[in-house]
Amino acid sequence: MANDISGAKPRILAVANQKGGVGKTTTAINLGTALAAVGEDVLVVDLDPQGNASTGLGITRRPHQKSSYHVLIGEADLDDVIIESAIPRLHCAPATIDLLGAELELADFERKTHRLYDAINLLNAKNKRHYSYILIDCPPSLNLLTINSLSAADAILVPLQCEFFALEGLSQLLKTVERVRSTLNPKLVIQGVVLTMFDKRNSLSDQVAQDVREVLGDKVYDTVIPRNVRVSEAPSYGKPVILYDHQCVGSQAYIRLASEVIRRERDLKAA
Ligand code: ADP
Ligand code: MG
Repeated sequence: MANDISGAKPRILAVANQKGGVGKTTTAINLGTALAAVGEDVLVVDLDPQGNASTGLGITRRPHQKSSYHVLIGEADLDDVIIESAIPRLHCAPATIDLLGAELELADFERKTHRLYDAINLLNAKNKRHYSYILIDCPPSLNLLTINSLSAADAILVPLQCEFFALEGLSQLLKTVERVRSTLNPKLVIQGVVLTMFDKRNSLSDQVAQDVREVLGDKVYDTVIPRNVRVSEAPSYGKPVILYDHQCVGSQAYIRLASEVIRRERDLKAA
């Protein structure tokens, strides 16, 4: 586990959806925390210029801090930028606003779609630290940052908000996954789709959930993340909700999601 140099490769999950505000960052933070809580060694790579995963994990930005941006442009290795969070076994490669310029800067780089892939391989090769899971928090677009994340990932985990246009955006995302699989990363699979911000008092939530399950079948996790005010309060304290209020329904849902993700990983490995 931590500092284990057995060489087992981490499972790399891209938390992606080109829509903003669907729960990507919340899922990266809290799934990461729940995985760490059951003994997994987890690295959250923040690839969103907003840096919400970093701040939500209580990582405060310092001037001149090296970040995922420096990793992508080759000015730092991943292990140079990784910071420990307050949660045991959970580390973060933070994002800074510099990432906004990365897309343009990377345009002329070699292997511009595989910068993160190469950085993670180098991290593994250095054998200093072993992570069992790397979760990549993607920005809300299908830009080069997201492509880097899908090129590096073993699987994509898609948070889907239970609202009217949910399925429409999803088909666009699935096309991108298909394209990445046929060109950049043949091993990319869909780990699963998690329904987020489910509101049981809203019949639309229910209808959307049913529709999504009809279209995607068992790609959709059984676990549904409810809309829960504790979940939205936690980031302002720089804490995952699981630390902020372990008992609340949001925390309990993310803990269940983690065991589902682990189960699926086991099945994928066995297959
Ligand atoms: P994204 O990363 O996809 O843009 P976020 O994870 O930042 O989405 O979530 C968007 C907003 O919704 C944030 O303010 C977050 O705190 C809130 N939020 C996310 N999940 C929940 C939830 N289950 N219940 C209540 N609020 C939530
Ligand atoms: Mg986000």
